[in-house]
Amino acid sequence: MKYIDLRSDTVTKPTPAMRKAMAEAEVGDDVYGEDPTMNELEKLAAEMVGKEAALFVTSGTQGNQVAVMTHTRRGDEVILESESHIYYYEVGAMATLSAVQARTVPGRLGAMDPDDVRAAIRSENIHFPRTSLICLENTHNRAGGTVLPLDNMKEIYEIAKRAGLSVHLDGARLFNAATALGVDPKEITKYCDSVMFCLSKGLCAPVGSILAGDSAWIKRARKNRKMLGGGLRQAGVLAAAGIVALKEMTLRLAEDHANARLLAEGFARIPGLAVDMQRVQTNMVMVDVAGLGVTGQQFSDALLERGVKANPMRPTVLRFVTHNDVSREDCLKAVEIVRDVAGRFAHGVA
Ligand SMILES: *Cc1c(COP(=O)(O)O)cnc(C)c1O
Repeated sequence: MKYIDLRSDTVTKPTPAMRKAMAEAEVGDDVYGEDPTMNELEKLAAEMVGKEAALFVTSGTQGNQVAVMTHTRRGDEVILESESHIYYYEVGAMATLSAVQARTVPGRLGAMDPDDVRAAIRSENIHFPRTSLICLENTHNRAGGTVLPLDNMKEIYEIAKRAGLSVHLDGARLFNAATALGVDPKEITKYCDSVMFCLSKGLCAPVGSILAGDSAWIKRARKNRKMLGGGLRQAGVLAAAGIVALKEMTLRLAEDHANARLLAEGFARIPGLAVDMQRVQTNMVMVDVAGLGVTGQQFSDALLERGVKANPMRPTVLRFVTHNDVSREDCLKAVEIVRDVAGRFAHGVA
């Protein structure tokens, strides 16, 4: 069966242009700084996000964790949103690798209230850990691919600067955020000291993410990456795909966003399904199937039998993510399959 795979934008395959660039890439030993293709990617990436320097990392998780390690000291406290990827989905790495503790602040659509952030910053007291870092996430994954408003980022960044703290942006889907806001990514990244973004999600590269920041900071991050086993050798084959990702694939994300909207509007018309439309801002759609009296897992199992893949995210909520490898036609077909499955559950015959 040919599946319509809406589980995540991580399932995207490298494009033919990437395969060609990878095959032809000039390479060298990147730990010696001698891989010309990697050097080109890191330079391009830094320019695109308005930072002095950039570092290729093997995954978004590695990029975020190198960032936490480079911004903090053992025993520090890090402020981050309660359902942020760094806290929720990175295997407790910040505690294990950097020996820092998390101070979570609940957000609204992924955005923390600046007043709550200000209140969470520790004062000087013999009992308290030192707050050293605030992490933001844009777009916010568990909130449904929601975009942090620029004024929210600005306000939190200014609070951080006044308190002498660093701000790291988990921008795994930074280019989706920029596309949705209709701004250059630099308009977002000017409100952070460091940013991580993924080349491997909606941008379709097979492997890799970028961490960017000041030159001196990236130099320290490079050493931490080495400690974590992320020093790569002839990495130009991966960088070549990353260059195509940045030059070409950042330009087409509006298509994914339009397809997500198409899905959301289709799902919203199906009896028993609930779609919170204010969360449909980029390439994700969260659908609550509680009205059918089934779990997200049951609904997802039934969809799989009919050729649609979607991930259960909460007990009764499924997530659908659009990307380069699903077309508008695929999305229209997925809506029909979801309608059919929902109808069967509603009549107790699924
Ligand atoms: C996917 C993701 C990451 C981590 O990416 P991996 O490459 O899977 O490690 C980090 N943050 C957010 C918000 C993500 O969606």
